[in-house]
Amino acid sequence: MRASHRGGPDSVEIVTQTPQGQDQSRTFDAVVVAIKPNHIADLILDKTSELNAILTAIPFRRDRVVVHTDAKLLPRSKRSWGAFNLTIPSSLDQVLGQTTITFWVNRLSVLDKRLPDIFITLNPPLEPDPVRIIQDRIMIHPVATFAGMQAIETLKTFQGGQRIWYAGSFLEIPYLHENAFNTGIAAAEGILLRLGAKP
Ligand SMILES: Cc1cc2nc3c(=O)[nH]c(=O)nc-3n(C[C@H](O)[C@H](O)[C@H](O)COP(=O)(O)OP(=O)(O)OC[C@H]3O[C@@H](n4cnc5c(N)ncnc54)[C@H](O)[C@@H]3O)c2cc1C
Repeated sequence: MRASHRGGPDSVEIVTQTPQGQDQSRTFDAVVVAIKPNHIADLILDKTSELNAILTAIPFRRDRVVVHTDAKLLPRSKRSWGAFNLTIPSSLDQVLGQTTITFWVNRLSVLDKRLPDIFITLNPPLEPDPVRIIQDRIMIHPVATFAGMQAIETLKTFQGGQRIWYAGSFLEIPYLHENAFNTGIAAAEGILLRLGAKP
């Protein structure tokens, strides 16, 4: 299902498409858009709008994330393993390129001791054994460049305009769960204030 949104002074219209391709329109007092900027841009109908230009100015990077049980991505000695294991490449070009890190999930999340060692590797420098791969995905992240941060500051001036609020960790550096949560709370408080309701 795809959705587009169009704000107005008194309400927000959300248009969704059914799997059969029919438009369905619903109207709300306010809307929180809690997705990544590139996805928000996909939902904007007017591609010439200032908002679309701001959203598309926020740069993104693709990272490969592999969940696996192949210990060859960590130091040989288990005593050297940490919850976060950064692989430092030998050349400067690689250092400035993709980050390579392996999370040892059992240590990070204190898993049941009976479970095997489970790892999450961001951009594996060595290919994990295919039979040991549990999940293999590409994640798209915002990148904190100067131009991107300026675009995000401009996006904040749109908060609550046309009764649409934006939430997500991309709004605040560092891009962590806490900031995703905090921006969601701020959006909810903005709506309550606008609607004259008490929290
Ligand atoms: C491998 C990895 C490890 C990380 N480790 C940490 C960590 O240890 N600690 C930490 O604090 N942060 C960590 N992060 C970052 C953290 O996951 C993000 O900052 C956080 O999840 C962002 O939350 P969000 O709500 O902004 O966006 P998201 O979590 O991306 O949520 C957006 C949601 O919107 C959905 N969506 C997209 N488009 C639409 C649509 N059109 N309609 C409906 N739904 C839609 C998406 O499917 C998604 O579920 C990690 C990220 C990665 C990739």
